[in-house]
Amino acid sequence: MEKYSSRRQAVLEVVQNMRCHPTADVVYEECRKTIPNISLATVYRNLAYFERQGILGRVVGCGEKEHYDVELDTHCHIICSKCKKIVDMPYPEDMKNLLAKYCDDRDFSSYGLSFYNVCEDCKNKNDK
Ligand SMILES: [Zn+2]
Ligand SMILES: [Zn+2]
Repeated sequence: MEKYSSRRQAVLEVVQNMRCHPTADVVYEECRKTIPNISLATVYRNLAYFERQGILGRVVGCGEKEHYDVELDTHCHIICSKCKKIVDMPYPEDMKNLLAKYCDDRDFSSYGLSFYNVCEDCKNKNDK
């Protein structure tokens, strides 16, 4: 039990140090550097656990894979439709208030929003 919870803590630290929006696969690769014998199943299980506990968020609307998010303050995402890079963006204040009221009125527990564009890197690549 002791061992299990310290491993769980280690997985969380790895994710929090990444400061990006990793998929479980990416977290797994990163975990293996510090926890060599960890399994992908363990990583999946822990990520799901952290999400249930509200310790990690998840990016909505980004392809078929789950991208986890360490930033828990309400924010939305800009996703590059070419390279799938995810960037945090605060909600515009008026939109935030509107959405909060919308959810309150309907008993929705949370919401997530993603915007799509082509990022600067991809734009530059196209220019060449
Ligand atoms: Zn891009
Ligand atoms: Zn985010």
